[in-house]
Amino acid sequence: MSPDDRVYAYSAVLMGSPILLKLLEHNQPVAAGVFRLIKQQENLLTVNRPDSEVMAINHAAGEHPVVVSQPVFELIARAREISLLEGSCFNFTIGPLVKCWKIGFHGNRVPPAAEIARLLTLTDPRQVILDRQARSVFLPVKGMEIDLGAIAKGDIADRVRDFLRQQQITDALINLGGNVQTLGGMPGSANWGIGLKKPFAGPDDLIGVIGISGKSVVTSGIYERYFELAGQRYHHILNPETGFPLDNELLSVTVISPQSIDGDIFTTLLYGMGVEKGLACLATTPEIEAVFVTKQRQVICSSQRQFNFTLLDSSYQLGR
Ligand code: ADP
Ligand code: MG
Ligand code: MG
Repeated sequence: MSPDDRVYAYSAVLMGSPILLKLLEHNQPVAAGVFRLIKQQENLLTVNRPDSEVMAINHAAGEHPVVVSQPVFELIARAREISLLEGSCFNFTIGPLVKCWKIGFHGNRVPPAAEIARLLTLTDPRQVILDRQARSVFLPVKGMEIDLGAIAKGDIADRVRDFLRQQQITDALINLGGNVQTLGGMPGSANWGIGLKKPFAGPDDLIGVIGISGKSVVTSGIYERYFELAGQRYHHILNPETGFPLDNELLSVTVISPQSIDGDIFTTLLYGMGVEKGLACLATTPEIEAVFVTKQRQVICSSQRQFNFTLLDSSYQLGR
């Protein structure tokens, strides 16, 4: 490798995920700035520590509205809008169920049906009251909890991209534990190659590689965070209708889009739709493209205007 082909990687663990920044030139101040930005955003949005703005809203449920910062208000407004779409399986008030399953955390368990039924009554996104003038959020029933886990990393990845641009960086990759956003390409290439992970295999085991430039790649899969009990697998994307993990033909969905927040939102939405409905939906959203991986070991790509896909693992087949 010649010096010009070098990639400088910076890593940290934040938001409970490994974070990786790649630059083509060594730039410690920019890397430090990126990690500071991520930390700031995590401090506003996390539900895994008691002192975030989102937790202030959750603690005040059934009591009073909470005034939040503009970016947090906008993110919650977006999450509410997506949750209220016709047939949406995205639900930003899923918090009580996420907390009770504890999937991916210590103490995970299958909650009794009566408990799930009770918690489902606390997850109606229509009940959340947003006041744009006051910039306040109110959860009217005690026990309601906002969870932005399906959208926050996308938003943060876009903020990192914007920050890198401000710093005149032309080629970079940020990976927030599965949410990738990019500028430019790798050394000697117009693109970055993003590995599509092989489900339930080693971290370096790939089904294929997605080539992109200046786009985001977000993957959600049932193999990321899950636990097994009595031969049954329980993963971390919940069906807001039943309170149980979403169950269909999919192992993972990967979304390619200009904005990582859209990728984050759409991985969850498409997960709920499955392949058939998902492809029909994608035909109406030109900026959102996707790669579905099914339990039948099929890899199904939507239109490919923003990316190219190279299959590496012959035990998987390109479908449709
Ligand atoms: P990750 O990138 O951590 O895998 P995803 O973007 O796939 O996360 O979103 C999963 C997270 O979103 C869960 O860990 C939980 O916090 C939250 N969540 C689970 N089910 C839903 C749902 N139906 N709608 C919105 N958020 C959800
Ligand atoms: Mg998501
Ligand atoms: Mg995600």
